Order: sequence, then C-alpha cells, then structure tokens
Amino acid sequence: MGVGVVWFKRDLRVADHAPLRQACDDGPVVCLYVVEPGLWAQADHDPAHLDFVAGCLADLDDALRARGNRLLIRTGRVRDVLADLRARGLLDRLYSHEETGTAWTFARDKAVARWCAAQGVPWTERPASGVQRPHPERDGWARRWDRRLHRPPVPAPAHVAAPTWPAGLVFEPIPSPRTVGLAPSRRTEAQPGGRVAGLALVDSFLAARGVDYRRGMSSPVRAWTEGSRLSPYLAWGALSAREVVHATRARADAVRDAVACGDAVDAGWLASLEAFEARLRWRDHFTQKLEDDPSIEHSNLSPAVDGLRVETTDRWTERKHAAFAAWRDGRTGYPMVDACMRCLDRTGWINFRMRAMLVSFATYDLWLHWRPVALELARRFVDFDPGIHYPQVQMQAGTTGINALRIYDPVKQQVDHDPDGVFVRHWVPELARVPLHLLHRPHRMDPSTQVTAGCRVGEHYPSPIVDHALAAAVAARRLDAVRATAEARDQARAIHHRHGSRRGPRRR
Ligand SMILES: Cc1cc2nc3c(=O)[nH]c(=O)nc-3n(C[C@H](O)[C@H](O)[C@H](O)COP(=O)(O)OP(=O)(O)OC[C@H]3O[C@@H](n4cnc5c(N)ncnc54)[C@H](O)[C@@H]3O)c2cc1C
Repeated sequence: MGVGVVWFKRDLRVADHAPLRQACDDGPVVCLYVVEPGLWAQADHDPAHLDFVAGCLADLDDALRARGNRLLIRTGRVRDVLADLRARGLLDRLYSHEETGTAWTFARDKAVARWCAAQGVPWTERPASGVQRPHPERDGWARRWDRRLHRPPVPAPAHVAAPTWPAGLVFEPIPSPRTVGLAPSRRTEAQPGGRVAGLALVDSFLAARGVDYRRGMSSPVRAWTEGSRLSPYLAWGALSAREVVHATRARADAVRDAVACGDAVDAGWLASLEAFEARLRWRDHFTQKLEDDPSIEHSNLSPAVDGLRVETTDRWTERKHAAFAAWRDGRTGYPMVDACMRCLDRTGWINFRMRAMLVSFATYDLWLHWRPVALELARRFVDFDPGIHYPQVQMQAGTTGINALRIYDPVKQQVDHDPDGVFVRHWVPELARVPLHLLHRPHRMDPSTQVTAGCRVGEHYPSPIVDHALAAAVAARRLDAVRATAEARDQARAIHHRHGSRRGPRRR
C-alpha cells in the first residue's frame, strides 16, 4: 500500500483539502509541513508571516490529532526532507495543492518535481481554488471559475490513518521566527493565525458585521469591523475560498428566505454579500495573472513603461533614497499616508483603498519604482499573497498597460474617509491636538496654533515632502506620453487578450 506524504504549503487546513482526502483514500498518511529557511529569507517574507503560520500549524496539528494522526514539522530544504522520509520508508507518494507563488517557490517546486521523477515517486497536485492550470484562454475564465467554486467543499476526512512511526523520528515543535534566524515580529497587533480564528470571523461577518460591507470597506476606520478581515486566513489557507463562497451563498439564501417570509431583515445584506463574493472571485482573477505570467513579480507587465522609473536602488539618487525612507517610516508630511504606514507596521493590515493610495503615492508622487515598494508592503501585509500582491501593485503603479491610471489624492482620501480624524490621530500621535480643520494639512498651522497643538511643523511633524498636485500631474504626463504610442497600444491589446477581465460584477 505504501505511505503517502501530504505536503502542506499555503493550505493549512483539513477541510476542503482534496490532496489530503485523496491520500487518505490511498493509505496511511504523513502530514508534512516544511519550514524552509530559504523561503523565510526572501525579501518579501517577514517574521509576522511566520507567526501567523505558526497559529495555523497549531490548529492543523489539533485537527490531525483529533483524526488519529499528527503534523510532522521539519526544517530544511524540501528535497532533503523528502529524501530523509523516503529513506525511512515514509514516502511512496506525494500529494499537494498547486501553488501560484513567487519565482523562488516555483524553482523549488520544479526541483521537487525533478527529485520525484528521479526517485519514481508520483506527485499528485490538485488545483487550489479557482486558478486554472494549464489555462487555455481568458474567454470563459469566469464561467469555469463559477463551475469550480460551485462544487461543494471537500469534507474533512473523519480519520487520517498514520503510518508506523520509525524510532528516532523527530517531530519538531511549531516554528517561530527564531527557528529560521529571524528577529521577533514588529507586528505586535496583528491578527492571530489559525483556522479557529478564521471560522469565527466568517461567522461574525456573515451574521452581523458585513451588513454595510460596500460602504464600510473603503474607510480605514470602519473596514476593521465591516470588512471580512479574512485575507490572511485565505492567503495562508486556514480557510479555502470555496468554503467562504459557499457560506456566503448559504447566507444569501437565508436572507432571501427571510424576505420571502416577511421577516425583518436589513435590505443591504444581499448587495453586500454579492459585493463580497465578487472580491473572492477577484482573488483568483489576479492570481491567474501571476500563474499565467510569473514575470509579473519582477518586470513591468507593459514593456512600454520599462526604464521610466529606476528599479535598482543602488542607482537611486540621495533624494530617491530619502523619499523612500520617508514613505516607509511614515514621515511624508501627508497624514493619511503616514498613518497607514505606521498602522501597517504594527497591525500588518489596512483596507484596499488605503493600500492603493500607498502605492499611488510612492510610485506617482515620489516616482519610485514599484518593486521596492512591493517588497516593503509584502513584508508589512500579514496577508501577503504573491498572486494578489504583485498584479495589484502593478495595477496601482500604472505599469499594466491596460488599466486606467488611478492617482489618489492623499488629502482627499483623508477628508473623505477619516472625516473625524480618528484614524490619523491614533497612528500619528504628534497630530493628536491639531484642530480638525487643519488635520489634513498640518503644515498650514500658524505658529500660535502649532504651540497650542504641541506640534511644531518641521520639528515634530514634517512639511509635505512633495507637492501632490504637481507631482501627480508630471507622473500622469510621463505615463500618458508612453501609453499613447502605437507600439504601447499594440502591446496593451495583447496584454488585455491574455490577462484582461472579460465581465463586470456578477449579477444574480
Ligand atoms: C497594492 C495592493 C496590494 C494588495 N496585496 C494583497 C495581498 O498581498 N494579499 C491579499 O489578500 N490582498 C491584497 N490586496 C487586496 C485587498 O486589499 C485585501 O485583500 C483586503 O484589503 C483584505 O481585507 P479583507 O479580508 O477584509 O477583504 P474583503 O473586502 O472582506 O474581501 C474578501 C477577500 O477577497 C479578496 N480580495 C479583496 N479585495 C481584493 C482585491 N482588490 N483583489 C484581489 N482580491 C481581493 C481577499 O482574499 C479578501 O480577504 C492588495 C491590494 C492592493 C491595492
């Protein structure tokens, strides 16, 4: 019968886990998680990610123990770990989900595939979510996504038969940043990892928090409770998108039944649930781009914009370095940008609109290349998911060639989305006593107001490091000039054919 190894990666759960289910049907199973020092040393990884993963591994181990097995954690290169298991008679077949990751994980998977082929170990990879591999063409993508996500989630196996564990086999403890030589995480207010926490969020969002989702998600004040906050649980696979889609559809059915019976139910629910399900589809829409074109991690999707911004940081001028440092450290003189960067440093999360604004400010106002910006944000987002992250950063930086330029005015964002100054005062405490009507432009305080507010401009809080209106106009002109060429338009058509969305929001 032989032993199957289920290699857990970004799918840290036992429910809706087709590879685990298949391995259980085939015989005894080793449930393996490999802590890869090489992965955790990558510039887009952060100790906060490993803390989150640790919470997920603890819940995964509990779930496996409840099913008669346990999680085997090993530190090292995956091929070495697999070779060791094979030598101990613990590996005859390998199972995992397909992963749309970075160039590093892709190269590692290819090396594992070569090793498996050389050893005669069959490796079964099952699709993760709605990302399609191989992907024939964009036309019909959404229909195929719907079909796949419509299938019921794979039930968790009732029992996961363990092999006979050989004497001397080491079960390593749940890893921490120190395991891979990293400093403790700075994100002291990050969401806790684990499926139990993720399931609780699904319940509270669908039962109550999500009723005004569409309005709440744009605000950095309201999105903390009115957005689902499921992103890290989906990114690291404590929950599957299919599980969440099915829970959302069940809730929508319950709302419709309640309406039909004349029960009191908030009219906003159906539109909120529809908007939420659309976001779940967007996850895969973006991830499909990276799956189809892994170069999106490193290179401009539109070659027309190559060379416009300087990527290599050792070719940056002093001013560029200073601008990047001010953005990174939350000292740009634009309170909304600074509040978001400082908030991310501690919590590892901010809502979509503010993420877009941060990229817009760095890449248009400061004219920085999106690569270093993407890496900094990847480290800050506990939900870092390469398939969403790199295509989104490029879209917000105006380098896809197919999306309209969206340049966010950080002052307008503050006025519109933090009208009472709650968010900015919390994260930029030196502005706590600045009068509300000047909070979005503290540099306009006169000297006596600066004294009353206890905030001297230039000493406690900087003047704006750039004039937004001017910088944004220059950036737009530069990009528009390139995008208007016949060559760029030809390229854009090809990019749209390969990656562009084919339909608007789903209608029920
Ligand atoms: C520059 C930039 C980088 C981003 N990087 C990431 C990332 O690394 N990981 C990540 O999970 N999200 C990323 N996003 C998308 C989005 O901002 C987050 O998914 C969302 O803010 C998470 O909060 P939530 O779980 O409450 O989302 P909700 O609004 O409740 O959405 C539910 C889920 O849908 C998915 N989703 C939501 N919005 C988007 C979107 N615009 N595109 C694709 N999927 C979406 C996420 O999985 C999310 O958890 C990025 C957005 C931008 C602008």
